[in-house]
Amino acid sequence: TNADPILDIQNIEVVYNNTIQVLRGLSLSVPRGAIVALLGSNGAGKSTTLKAISRLLEMEKGELKSGDILFDGQSVRADTPHGLVRRGLFHVMEGRRIFEDLTVEENMIAATYAGSNAEARKRFDLVYEYFPRLFERRKGLAGYLSGGEQQMLAIGRALIANPKIILLDEPSLGLSPLLTEEIFSIIARINNEQKTSMLIVEQNAAMAFAVADYGYIMETGRIMLDGPTSVLTDDPDVQEFYLGMS
Ligand code: ATP
Repeated sequence: TNADPILDIQNIEVVYNNTIQVLRGLSLSVPRGAIVALLGSNGAGKSTTLKAISRLLEMEKGELKSGDILFDGQSVRADTPHGLVRRGLFHVMEGRRIFEDLTVEENMIAATYAGSNAEARKRFDLVYEYFPRLFERRKGLAGYLSGGEQQMLAIGRALIANPKIILLDEPSLGLSPLLTEEIFSIIARINNEQKTSMLIVEQNAAMAFAVADYGYIMETGRIMLDGPTSVLTDDPDVQEFYLGMS
């Protein structure tokens, strides 16, 4: 599968406002069906990497200066964010962008791009199967959900699109350890049962390594270290700087 990855980032450079260079020749790939974790300190460029993939970069005056990103064998350079969703790539941004003034179910309806009502219903049922709490709260305003439930809704909205890959930006942000564990175990189930590939940006390295097959560690715009998570977990530097052991 490594010969035909679902996502292949080839030596990209990204610049904001034509002046600030944030990514400096970054390469990374996600095999089909895999969970890949992207770690790194604050400001390393993790969110920028996800935005470059989903084309949300341009909305923030960022530009892909060189290199290329292949999704499902095709460059994303000519795509729009919506076009990529239709092609099967969904970006769950940091901070759970949901519509607080809509109900949970209305948020899910808003994520339905195409297809019949019957198809949409099936996707809703799938989301409710993974997140029973969203079913219980489907008629309530999304703004009244807890942080963990809002993260569930953000991931649920991604599932509606039946994506081939989900880009997840800090799913644990602001959540208790218990809720973080619950969210990650559902992420692992979705990957396993739906065969959805995942690229996960995380501060919580231990959690990310628990579900990911492969990890990349970046510093100031480049990958410094990568390998199977089982190998990275045994690396003394990784243990000291990312896993909080010593
Ligand atoms: P964090 O975990 O803190 O979000 P990160 O690794 O995701 O860190 P990015 O958000 O990608 O890092 O930011 C990388 C660098 O790019 C930072 O120095 C940041 O200030 C800068 N940056 C991010 N977005 C913009 C923007 N829209 N315009 C200018 N600079 C930006």
